[in-house]
Amino acid sequence: MELLEMLSDVLIDTLKGFSTEKRPLTSATLKEALETREELISLFYPTLGSNGNRKSRSAASPSKPESTGGSGTELLEDFRKSLSTILDNLAPVISGEYEQRFSMLQQRIDECNSSILLSILAEQIGKIVGELMSDAVERMQFSNNFLVELGKDLFKIEERLSSYQSYNKDTYQISSDFNDDLSSHTNDVLYAVDSCSNLVNIQKLIIDKLDMISKSIETKRRSDEIRLHEADTRIAELQNNLKTYEVEISQVKERTESLEKEVMLDELTQIHNRRAYDLQILNNIRRYHAHNELFSLVLIDIDHFKNVNDTYGHKAGDRCLREVASLIKSSLRKSDFVARYGGEELIAILNGSNAENAQRTAEKIRNRIQKARFFFQNEEIPITISLGVTEITPSDTEPENPFIRVDKAMYQAKKEGRNLVRVYREALATGSGAATEGVVQEAGFPLAVARTDLPRADFHSEKSPY
Ligand code: GH3
Ligand code: MG
Ligand code: MG
Repeated sequence: MELLEMLSDVLIDTLKGFSTEKRPLTSATLKEALETREELISLFYPTLGSNGNRKSRSAASPSKPESTGGSGTELLEDFRKSLSTILDNLAPVISGEYEQRFSMLQQRIDECNSSILLSILAEQIGKIVGELMSDAVERMQFSNNFLVELGKDLFKIEERLSSYQSYNKDTYQISSDFNDDLSSHTNDVLYAVDSCSNLVNIQKLIIDKLDMISKSIETKRRSDEIRLHEADTRIAELQNNLKTYEVEISQVKERTESLEKEVMLDELTQIHNRRAYDLQILNNIRRYHAHNELFSLVLIDIDHFKNVNDTYGHKAGDRCLREVASLIKSSLRKSDFVARYGGEELIAILNGSNAENAQRTAEKIRNRIQKARFFFQNEEIPITISLGVTEITPSDTEPENPFIRVDKAMYQAKKEGRNLVRVYREALATGSGAATEGVVQEAGFPLAVARTDLPRADFHSEKSPY
């Protein structure tokens, strides 16, 4: 365990180094950075002396199992555990083909009995992490490019609108020139009528002026026709463009919504992921303090799940996990929330439930999973779960506050034999300081309980992946 923590520290420290030095994180640079860490070398190659000469060790045949002594076997086991923990921690953020590659790596890690082979597997994990990061960067670049293009399109719309505005100004100018022309002809006629005594002259002048006026009107009519046609074309063009933008915007909206969903969903179990829980619990705590909206947390952990993987393989474990998540989700109300907290741990937020109601729900879930039957190649896999329950309290201002309690309650259930529900009541714990004193004891439920056959999570027709 100590070794695991040291390894985590070295990894976190190395990753921090990347972040503060703003170096690109690739499998090659990560490998290089880790290889230069004295602590890491001394952790995994203590027998090589302080110079940590890995090369001579790597020269050994990787296919040959190591003949390590008692402490060597422990180190190997610690190394294996730390790699499994890294894979578990990465599980909530991976999806698609990565999931399959991780699953194969997990299988190889489980079967591996040489630290050299484990080192090679560790390098492969580093490589996949590098690929994951470059995938994420690609997605970000795609979004950025899209936004730049959208910005350009909006700029074009603005340009068109302003050209349309200047077109309107031109139209106004032409009309106003025409009006000036007309009023000047009218004034000329008035002046002539005033100043001419001869009726014939007046008649001639009026006929001339009327002729000019009718020519002006004809010219104006023609120019109006042309401009009207131009305006129609421009409006049609603008409407067309607006339609295109409308379609593009709705496509972006759809894409954003599906990305949002994808980001909040756990690929394996198809329930919410840790990211979604982190947002949801903040929202719940805020609503509790603002509107007194009560809720309870239920933390669920599959019992002896490592045994399931070890006995039936990681793929079978994955299928059990998926079935358990689906059964739990269908046992809750629509208004409740359930997410994969990490590994084989799920967490539920029961809205409007106090500890007592939540305990009843947790007991219903425990019973349902106990009765469900999980098969792999005609062999029944025994699956039970341990559950912790706690109710939100006025002193809970951070998500960690209720989580610490629900985690303690769940571990109490493990401690007392598993396949149990335990409730942590804040009132009982205040002042005690002890980890489990607030946990209320329940009647025990023995592990070996006769199972009925409903509901049935059955996948016995599945072929073994191994
Ligand atoms: P406990 O009853 O104390 O909870 O025992 P456990 O074996 O379930 O507990 P532990 O924490 O030691 O091991 C959890 C195991 O769950 C280890 C890991 O391989 C497995 N696991 C975590 N995530 C996944 C997953 O996504 N798929 C599979 N197949 N196994 C997983
Ligand atoms: Mg477990
Ligand atoms: Mg666990």
